[in-house]
Amino acid sequence: MSEKLTPFVRDVVLPAGPDVVPRLAEAACSFRLAYHPSPIHRWGIFAMEPIPARRRVIEYTGERIKPDEVRRRGVRPRIYIFWVSPRVAIDGAIGGSGAEFINHSCAPNLIARKRHGRIHLVSLRPIEAGEELLLDYQVSGDAPLTPCRCGTPQCRGYLNRQDDLL
Ligand SMILES: [Zn+2]
Repeated sequence: MSEKLTPFVRDVVLPAGPDVVPRLAEAACSFRLAYHPSPIHRWGIFAMEPIPARRRVIEYTGERIKPDEVRRRGVRPRIYIFWVSPRVAIDGAIGGSGAEFINHSCAPNLIARKRHGRIHLVSLRPIEAGEELLLDYQVSGDAPLTPCRCGTPQCRGYLNRQDDLL
């Protein structure tokens, strides 16, 4: 079967496939983190020690790609692409630190800080050991509406930005 795969499918689509198991790059993590099955969606990333507020928790890494390539990779069912600027995005499915497995919540405990072309996920409040790390994806642009399953009282129903829902 594998000889029938095109390079695009093999190198770009499969790394974001449903069978992928998370892997955490220690160098990208500022605290002890681990992956476990998540009550929200498949795998999640969890704090293994208390994390104070306003601290870098993990860097979001991956392949740096241009808007044309982002569109090409839009055929994938899962969201691992994070815009750093209007011209550059990071595809966490390829060379990702594990931060790409952090689930979305409409009531997150992390926020993305973009600086000098890099993305760090920073704690919004103190996070307890054992808590799942959560980020508001703020999916934007022409991305299709993706229903949210975070189950929080603040849930807006979709992973997409509030502005794109109006
Ligand atoms: Zn939600």
